Amino acid sequence: MNPLQKIYLQALINQSHQESSQQVKQEEYSQKENVQYLQKQQLLQIIQQCQTQHQPTQQVSQYFKQSNSKSSTLIEVQNSVTSYFQKIILQKQTINLTNVLEVQLPYFMIIMSNLIIYGLENCQADKEIVADLVSSYKDNPLKISMSYSLFQTVALLFRSEVIIYDQSTKYLSNFLLFRDDFCDIFFKALYSYKISQGQAVSQQIGFTQIHQMIKKQQDEVWTTFTFNMLSQQQQQLTKDQFLLQFNKYTQSLNTFFTKSNLIMDLVAQSVKQTAKLHNDQIFQEYLLIMGSFKATTQEFLKKATQVFYEETQELDLLQFSSNTIKVHKQMNCQILFILPMLLQLESQYLEHIIKNGFSEMQLKNSSNYYLKMIEKLKSKCVYNGEEECNCKKCQCIRRNRNSAKESQKKKREALEKIGPLQDEFNKLQKKVKHLETENQYMTTLILEVFKHPSVEKIASQFLEPLTKIIADSESMEEC
Ligand SMILES: [Zn+2]
Repeated sequence: MNPLQKIYLQALINQSHQESSQQVKQEEYSQKENVQYLQKQQLLQIIQQCQTQHQPTQQVSQYFKQSNSKSSTLIEVQNSVTSYFQKIILQKQTINLTNVLEVQLPYFMIIMSNLIIYGLENCQADKEIVADLVSSYKDNPLKISMSYSLFQTVALLFRSEVIIYDQSTKYLSNFLLFRDDFCDIFFKALYSYKISQGQAVSQQIGFTQIHQMIKKQQDEVWTTFTFNMLSQQQQQLTKDQFLLQFNKYTQSLNTFFTKSNLIMDLVAQSVKQTAKLHNDQIFQEYLLIMGSFKATTQEFLKKATQVFYEETQELDLLQFSSNTIKVHKQMNCQILFILPMLLQLESQYLEHIIKNGFSEMQLKNSSNYYLKMIEKLKSKCVYNGEEECNCKKCQCIRRNRNSAKESQKKKREALEKIGPLQDEFNKLQKKVKHLETENQYMTTLILEVFKHPSVEKIASQFLEPLTKIIADSESMEEC
């Protein structure tokens, strides 16, 4: 396939994804009370996706099985865990987790690790291999990796709120990594190919990669993530692909900020409960990220496209990294890092809740302020009236811009017409002033003359018509 065909295919796939997700969303509205139905739908979707995704893998492993009779591979164990979890969702069971780990990890990763170990211990796979995996994962959970189907199913478990661990676990149902609109994005940007015992090749998302996204000890972690997200894990990022994927990225984030999300929900809740669960710093940061997204995205796109593709048709990771840092610095924003920043912020917020509990929080009312600001920003469209967006806000902005332009135009036209008239008017006024002084002078002079005794006699014959002439010229001046 040539790059153009690839982009076209990508667009087609995206569209069908969008259509199917829209369909799911409609069902969500009409059958809000029937959450179970939606879960089954999603589960069915996952199973279908997995079947198409893993066909080549199975063929590969089958091929190797003939020459090597060693029982289960990693992917087969994962498939077994996946179907065990799917059964739990279908049978409406719950999972009671206790912590079997002694390591320090972010809250959501502790629960994920325990969940995977729980799944391994309860699945139908080869006991020997499972025992090896469990002890290795207990020793270091960062060794855990998940296939596409396992990750999707784990995300669905969290969304379905069937995991019982502690009182904060419920917040994970809205956690960015597990959301149905974002888990795919994360998987596609973070997976790598894994060969287990030289037998099967599969796409795996590793706990190490997820952990690095949160810790971000090096800047490259986020640039690499973003590059992989935009290029869809290709070596090069073409301009067309960049424009296509950036637009998708903008739309996803737009939905994220407009609809319910972990931090937003807790801000709203904290106002209702008079500032319980309150954390200024996190709300502030959320507000900053949201504000920067709303205000600078379109400008950033113009600038980035220009800088990225100034001298080249496509970028590799290295060029992309240095250019991203350059544009971010120039524009004093972090548009391309918003997704990792939000993931990190949500994780921090969960840590904050775990550490401080619910009762120890100080009572402050300023969260009202954040809610107000967030609500205000929510209604601001990121496209800011650009032609490509047809939302009410943008239409309104465009209308206002057009009418402002129109009235400006009228003003200018009127001024242009007034211009020559004004000159004439000024000339006339000068003339009038001149005449006025002349008139006054003449009037005084004539009146003085008539006061003279020798002309006093004829004065009455001249005075009346003279006064009339003066009066006439005065009324003329007024025009
Ligand atoms: Zn808009």
